[in-house]
Amino acid sequence: MALIVHKYGGTSMGSVERIKNVAKRVAKWHKAGHRMVVVPSAMSGETNRLLGLAKEISAHPDPRELDMIAATGEQVSVGLLALALKAEGLDAVSYAGWQVAVKTDSAFTKARISEIDSERVLKDLDEGKVVVITGFQGVDPNGHITTLGRGGSDTSAVAMAAALGADECLIYTDVDGVYTTDPRVVDDARRLDKITFEEMLEMASLGSKVLQIRSVEFAGKYQVKTRVLSSLTDPLCPLEQEMRSGTLITFEEDDTMEKAVISGIAFQRDEGKITVRGVPDRPGIAYQILGPIADANIDVDMIIQNQSVEGKTDFTFTVGRGEYQRAMEILKTSVQAHVGAAEIVGDPKVSKVSVVGVGMRSHVGIASTAFRTLAEEGINIQMISTSEIKISVLIDEKYMELAVRALHKAFELDQA
Ligand code: ASP
Ligand code: MG
Repeated sequence: MALIVHKYGGTSMGSVERIKNVAKRVAKWHKAGHRMVVVPSAMSGETNRLLGLAKEISAHPDPRELDMIAATGEQVSVGLLALALKAEGLDAVSYAGWQVAVKTDSAFTKARISEIDSERVLKDLDEGKVVVITGFQGVDPNGHITTLGRGGSDTSAVAMAAALGADECLIYTDVDGVYTTDPRVVDDARRLDKITFEEMLEMASLGSKVLQIRSVEFAGKYQVKTRVLSSLTDPLCPLEQEMRSGTLITFEEDDTMEKAVISGIAFQRDEGKITVRGVPDRPGIAYQILGPIADANIDVDMIIQNQSVEGKTDFTFTVGRGEYQRAMEILKTSVQAHVGAAEIVGDPKVSKVSVVGVGMRSHVGIASTAFRTLAEEGINIQMISTSEIKISVLIDEKYMELAVRALHKAFELDQA
């Protein structure tokens, strides 16, 4: 008998019919003897609808009120699911985040979980109840309702599993696992049976949006065994089959010899590249350029500073395309003259493609295979960055899909 947390995404909770299916699935697990906690998202489209209403009233809504509004989506979900579970003959109880309590800081719309009280939930579980807890929300030290940022129910579920010492956290979603790359770009992308949490972190941060990245960080920090799997299968399919489906996020590097060196090709289509040319090479220059960008809350990704020539250097970095214009403006209005840069140039149409795999640590030649592959396709690399388990290149947006396909093939990711 294990303690299991299930998380269901918006699509899985998308209609009364689907909620009934969720209840059937949870009932199957409960009948097999497991202690069950369920964390659902709002019904699909609901959070957008709620935030849209707020925007109709105010162009810049107070974040505290936004959280008050957005949190109701999940509250509806837990109530409906508890009803559906009761209809399945189970004893079920629903809670909002503050009732548990899921404690967070006060950063409205992007709060972080600080602590979860497990007492109440454990007591219910001891009494044989299925406990249904809202995803996405918590309560701050002053009793205000907070939300965890879009997609935050993943993090709620993993954090809950960590707090309860759950045996496994199953994230049910509308895809059947984590793939070697986006199947919309590469036809023969394959589902991975396992991925290490470090690889998952890279894949998630590099644009494969299966899980909210903070949930992966949580899984890693607290070693929560987490599985991503489909909610679109028959809810009454055999439990043993379901327990082995999807993709398991693991903590050890795989011991099997056959393990591929590379696990996946991740990409971020919408990047922009900015170069500050001819800046004097002196202490503080990077800070003077990137400080104002950070102050404007713009995330900077790849950064390169060139070798200086006659005391001058070039400084290049990338930002999300949506923030490219704003970053350019900040640099032109408040940085260029201040640091004495010759010019500021950029390209808003670049993409980042990354080869990810923990196996890279113990294998040489991964970078050269990647670079040769791109060269053979005639793709020019504009920037390169590496970590222990990934190699990223920045290229012209035009060639992104070609690069992903070529690398996927070069590393034989299409072969099981
Ligand atoms: N309902 C929230 C959202 O749409 C949280 C979630 O679904 O994970 O972002
Ligand atoms: Mg989601």
